Amino acid sequence: MSRVFLIFLFLTNIFAYEVTNGKTFLLEVSENSQVLKDNKELSLLKHPIKKDSYFVLLPIAYKTKLKEIKLLHVEGNKSEKIVLHVKQGKYKKETMKVNPKKVKPPKSAENRIWKEYLESKKVYATVTKERYWKKPFLMPLNSKITSNYGNARIYNGSLKGFHSGTDFRAPTGTTLKTVNDGVVVVASERYYSGNAVIVDHGEGIYSSYSHLSKINVKEGEFVKRGEALGLSGATGRVTGPHLHFSIIIESKKIDPLDFIKKINSLF
Ligand SMILES: [Zn+2]
Repeated sequence: MSRVFLIFLFLTNIFAYEVTNGKTFLLEVSENSQVLKDNKELSLLKHPIKKDSYFVLLPIAYKTKLKEIKLLHVEGNKSEKIVLHVKQGKYKKETMKVNPKKVKPPKSAENRIWKEYLESKKVYATVTKERYWKKPFLMPLNSKITSNYGNARIYNGSLKGFHSGTDFRAPTGTTLKTVNDGVVVVASERYYSGNAVIVDHGEGIYSSYSHLSKINVKEGEFVKRGEALGLSGATGRVTGPHLHFSIIIESKKIDPLDFIKKINSLF
């Protein structure tokens, strides 16, 4: 048995790629493929336009400490090893001055913050089997990016994690559009995000829009690509009006613009 295994390994091709923490790895594969990571099969997602073609989406966590990720791609009786060398992204440090209450929340807000954290955790852990989108993803706004994904954030002098989305310049009252078809799963006021909308695009992919001055959709509502979700604003933990936009795959907040570029490359 072990000899058979060794021969099998010997015949396996090895492919290497470089990936960056916070970005998404996308691999196109054929219909009869299986892609394994740590002996667990990854979901094959149907290619949006190519017949008999599939792809695998692998979000690389921002905080990953892994130096490499190994995948095994099996296709019929052929197999190849894929080694992803994980490079740490050159993310900037950013100093912010915000309302002290939003950095060190008062005791009275602790329960609410905890409840909202658990709620969103539950939302992101839910993988809807159905895919709602058919067309490429849009940008939520065509405006200047004021803060990139991944910046280390120092609020009022203390480090508070990383910027988990992309900020777009948006004077209060700017119409915000959903980046693709989906179902609204959150449309409510939250402590840090202010008025927030989260859209489920299916297959574990979510987009989220924060700090709105007005929400125009309801939870459970189906929204079309480009449909207005609400108006931008300055609610929650902010330094001024803007849109904080993020994409979440398998509970990981990854670079939304990198994701859009990669997924749209399939079209
Ligand atoms: Zn932001």
